[in-house]
Amino acid sequence: MPRPTRSSTSASSSAKPAPSPAQQALVKLGLVRDIDLALHLPLRYEDETRITPIRSARDGDTVQIEATVTASEVQMRPRRQLVVTVEDGTGSCELRFFSFYPSHQKTMAVGARLRVRGEIKGGFWGRQMLHPAFRKAEGDLPAALTPVYPTVAQLPQAYLRRAVASALTRVELPETLPPGLEPPAVPSWVRGNGQNGLLRPWSLREALLFLHHPAPDVALATLQDHSHPAWQRLKAEELLAQQLSQLTAKRERARLRAPALRPQAQAGSTPLHEQLLGVLPFSLTAAQRRVGEEIARDLARPVPMHRLLQGDVGSGKTVVAALAATVCMDAGWQCALMAPTEILAEQHFAKLIGWLQPLLAARGRQVAWLVGGQKKKERAEMLARIESGEAALVVGTHAVIQEQVRFKNLALAVIDEQHRFGVAQRLALRKKLQHAGMEPHLLMMSATPIPRTLAMSYYADLDVSTIDELPPGRTPIVTKLIADSRKDEVVERIGAQVAAGRQVYWVCPLIEESEALDLSNATATHAELSEALQGDAAHGRAPVMVGLLHSRMPAAEKKAVMDLFKGGQMGVLVSTTVIEVGVDVPNASLMVIEHAERFGLSQLHQLRGRVGRGAAASACVLLYSTGDSGRLGETARDRLKAMAETTDGFEIARRDLEIRGPGEFLGARQSGDALLRFADLATDTLLLEWARETAPQMLDRHPLLAERHIQRWLGGKSDYLKA
Ligand code: ADP
Ligand code: MG
Repeated sequence: MPRPTRSSTSASSSAKPAPSPAQQALVKLGLVRDIDLALHLPLRYEDETRITPIRSARDGDTVQIEATVTASEVQMRPRRQLVVTVEDGTGSCELRFFSFYPSHQKTMAVGARLRVRGEIKGGFWGRQMLHPAFRKAEGDLPAALTPVYPTVAQLPQAYLRRAVASALTRVELPETLPPGLEPPAVPSWVRGNGQNGLLRPWSLREALLFLHHPAPDVALATLQDHSHPAWQRLKAEELLAQQLSQLTAKRERARLRAPALRPQAQAGSTPLHEQLLGVLPFSLTAAQRRVGEEIARDLARPVPMHRLLQGDVGSGKTVVAALAATVCMDAGWQCALMAPTEILAEQHFAKLIGWLQPLLAARGRQVAWLVGGQKKKERAEMLARIESGEAALVVGTHAVIQEQVRFKNLALAVIDEQHRFGVAQRLALRKKLQHAGMEPHLLMMSATPIPRTLAMSYYADLDVSTIDELPPGRTPIVTKLIADSRKDEVVERIGAQVAAGRQVYWVCPLIEESEALDLSNATATHAELSEALQGDAAHGRAPVMVGLLHSRMPAAEKKAVMDLFKGGQMGVLVSTTVIEVGVDVPNASLMVIEHAERFGLSQLHQLRGRVGRGAAASACVLLYSTGDSGRLGETARDRLKAMAETTDGFEIARRDLEIRGPGEFLGARQSGDALLRFADLATDTLLLEWARETAPQMLDRHPLLAERHIQRWLGGKSDYLKA
C-alpha cells in the first residue's frame, strides 16, 4: 500500500499516477492538508496496550491475547470456515473465520506467535473468537490507545491511521491564540490523572497529540462525552473559527454600499408609511413597533441590512414587512416580497396588497406579481412594469429573483418563512440582487424561532429582531394527544365543530420516503372524512364540504380549494403538509395532525399555529399511532408531550434542537455552510460565549493570527467544496 505522503495527497506535477481509491476517499472527506488529517479525530479507541491471559478472559470480554498457533484447519461443516487454535500457556482459544484468504492461513500457520483482539465467546470449556483482528506478535505493545477514526468503505482504517500518524509528524501547530485570549478553564471531572474541578487549559498541540493517542489510563468517558480538557481546547478552537469567519463576513459586508432609505420630502403628500398605519384595522403591538424601528434604522444607513425577523406563528410579522416596504417605497425605491411557494405568497401577501394597492394606485404605482406558472402575456406585462419602475412592489415566489427579472431600482428584498436560509444561500441571493454596485437590504422572516445558541453560532453574521408578544385577543390553543385507535371520536368532534360554524384542518401523515404515498394517504383520508361527514337528513345534520389540498395539484386548483376554505363554505380541509406555513384562516379552530409522531417539533408547532388565530377557543389534536408494538417509543412520547406542555415557540425550538441536533434543525439547505464537528451547542455554551467575545478582539488586535486560525479550521473545507 502506498505510504500517504504530502505529494500523494496534494495536486502537483502533471505526470501523476491516478490516485488510488483510498486517496480519492481522503480528498472526498476533505482530508487534504496535514492539518485536516490532524483535525480528523477518533470516534473511539481500542485498547491494545495490554495482553490478557486466556484463562482470565470471560465470556463477552473484548480482549487482546498473545498466543501461539497449535492447529489450523479448514472445516467444511456446517459451512466452510477456517478454525485456528491458539494457546498461551494459561489456556487455549479457537479463532473462527467464515471468510479468509490464503494470506490469512499463512500468517496463522502452526507455530506462529500472534496478537489477537476480539470478543470472547464461551467460557472455561471452550473459548472462541469470531473474526478477531490478528497480527504477528512483533515489537513492543503500543503505549497509547489505538484510535478508531470515522471513515468510509473505500478508506481502510489502517490506511487512515497511517495517514493521520504521518500527518501528525509533519504538521506545524503554532498557537494562534494570542496571550491573554486563551479559552476559559472549564469544569471537568477527569479522574484518570488525579485532577478534579477546574483544569488548566491545554495547548492545541498537546490536545491533538493526546486525542489521537491517549494514554491508556485516561477516563474513557471524558473522551466519549468530549468533556476532557483536550476536547475542550479543540471545541474552543472550532467555535472561535466559526465566529471569526462569520464576523469577517459581517465586517466585509459593512464595507459595501446600499441605498440609504430615508423618506423623500414631498410637499403635500402623506408618506405611504403613515397612510398604511392609518388603514390598518388594528394598532401595532409594542413588539411590532420596536422591531419596525430597528428595521427602519438599518434601512436608513448606506450599508446593506441583513436582518432576521423572528416571531412565533401569528405574532404579526407580515405587517412589519409591509411597513418596511413602505419605508423603501417612500424613499423612491422598489421592494420585493418573496415566499417559498405560490400558495404562501398569495396567502401572506393578500391582506397586505389589499391595504397597499389603493395607496399605491393613488400615486400611479402598482403591485406586480411574479410566480412560476404565470401566463406569458401577463408575465411580460409584469416584467415591463418592474423594469420601468411602475411596479413599486413586487410580490411572488423565488421566481422574483431566479429569473430574468430586471428591476429599475430594487433596494429591499423581504423573504418570508425562510428560516433555513444559510450563509451560502444568502450570498447567492445577494449576488443576484446587486444593482449598479449597490447591494439591496435583506429582511428574512422566520416563524421558527432560532434558539439563542444557534443564533449566536450559525447566524452570528446576521442581526436579529424578535417579536416576543402576540397580538391581544388570542385564545390559547389546547393540545391533546390521542391514540389513533380513537379516531372515530375525533371525527365526531369535527362534525360538532363544523355544526357550530367553525372550520377544521386535517393534516395527513408525512411519509418521508415517498411523495406518492403521502398523496395516496391524503386521498384516502379525504374519502373517509367525506363519507363520515356526508350528513344525515333524519337527524337534521347538513353535509360538510371536505376539501383536499396537496403539493402536486395545479396552482389554479389549489387556489380554488383555498378560496372555498377561506370563504367559509368548506368545513374541513384535508391536506399534506403544504399548509405548514403561513395560511391564515381565523375561523379555523381545530387542527388534527395524523401520525403526529412522524413530524419534527418545529413542524408541529408551525402546523398548530394555523389555529388559534381568532377569538374562538382552539384545539390541536395530535393523533399518534403506536404501530405494532402497541406503545409509543420514549423519544416520540417525550416530543409529543413537549408539544402538549408548551405553546412557546422558543421553548419548542430549544427542545427540537436538543433532540435533532443543529444539522437537521438547520435543514439540508444549510449544507453549504460548515457545520460544527466537535462542539455541541447544547453543552458548550461557555465556550461559545468565550468565542463570541474573543473573535472581535482577535480581529482588531491580531488580524494575522485570526486569518491563520480561520485557514487552519476552514481552509480545507473550502477547498473541498470547490472540488
Ligand atoms: P405571522 O407572524 O405568523 O406571519 P401574520 O402576520 O400572518 O403572523 O399575522 C397573524 C394575524 O394577526 C393576521 O391576521 C394579522 O392581520 C393579525 N395581526 C397582526 N398584527 C396585529 C395586531 N397588532 N393586532 C391584531 N391583529 C394583528
Ligand atoms: Mg407569516
